[in-house]
Amino acid sequence: MLVDRFGRKINYLRISVTDKCNLRCIYCMPPFGERKLRHKDILRYEELLRIARIAITLGITKIRLTGGEPLVRKGVHEFIPMLTALEGLMDVSITTNGVLLKQNLKMLKAAGIKRLNISIDSLDRRKFEKITRFDYLDRVWEGIASARDMGFYPIKLNAVMMKGVNDDEILDFGRLALEQPYHLRFIECMPIGLEANSLAFIANQEVEKTLVQAFGPLIPVLRGPHDGPAERFRFEHGKGEIGFVSAISHSFCHDCNRLRLTANGMLLPCLLSDTEVSIKDPMRRGCLDGDLIEVFRKAVRLKPSCHPLNGQNNQKVHRKMCSVGG
Ligand code: SAM
Repeated sequence: MLVDRFGRKINYLRISVTDKCNLRCIYCMPPFGERKLRHKDILRYEELLRIARIAITLGITKIRLTGGEPLVRKGVHEFIPMLTALEGLMDVSITTNGVLLKQNLKMLKAAGIKRLNISIDSLDRRKFEKITRFDYLDRVWEGIASARDMGFYPIKLNAVMMKGVNDDEILDFGRLALEQPYHLRFIECMPIGLEANSLAFIANQEVEKTLVQAFGPLIPVLRGPHDGPAERFRFEHGKGEIGFVSAISHSFCHDCNRLRLTANGMLLPCLLSDTEVSIKDPMRRGCLDGDLIEVFRKAVRLKPSCHPLNGQNNQKVHRKMCSVGG
């Protein structure tokens, strides 16, 4: 069992399988992309499976795959079923931008994945293109609609809100959760990487106020066993849900139960700090499982009580989101 210095149980691992992405979201990547990791520096699938197996022996029960864009990595359709087949995992999910979702749904379903997080920062084709730098909104919606038809549930739609960019769509997103069974997640933009620092922050309280004024009160939803940090609500006659992930205005660090593994094999105690511990180096030196267990324990010991960002103090994280995956 992994328990940190502050008594938090760590049972959740996010794995970034690649730093490559097929979008260039303005808050995440420069127009021509980041410099890519070298192929040899990226963890191989057998290495990821070994790390996952060790993590499970330490009490990790939940894994989320992320990127870059996880569905662009070659061979991911063979890796995911091998991962979900590992004994002891209770929940495997994936965060995707949805561009390649439709053609991967059968594989995801057969592998036992039920829950999807799909990032969609605009419902307007032109604005979607402006934010992601690609005209792929229709493809993303095809993926979302097919996932719904195939019975994936819940389908969480993640929207990073940016003042003056997409905050005029708050009500459109709200209406979606009112009329359709999607779980909207409003994500506060975090000052991580250079790109996001130049965007105007909008706190989720402001988003909530706008929604309540237009659609009436938000009713709290009871938290489930696999819930993340979102505060969950629904409208009185809403078919879907609204969730707020307010990492900056209302940090949820006291409840943090996660570690992150980057595509190049670093274990991160906290998304919003630059501390990291290499698991790839000892693994490639041929170390035993017991040594890798020690690497996990070290990363857990390094978890801070709380991240230092609050939206005002101008502190930022230098890490690139595309190699961590959110
Ligand atoms: N490509 C996948 C996707 O789009 O969901 C997975 C990787 S992406 C980095 C994971 C999530 O991180 C996305 O929902 C994205 O919007 C979010 N994200 C990236 N940079 C962010 C930032 N600076 N603040 C808040 N969320 C961010």
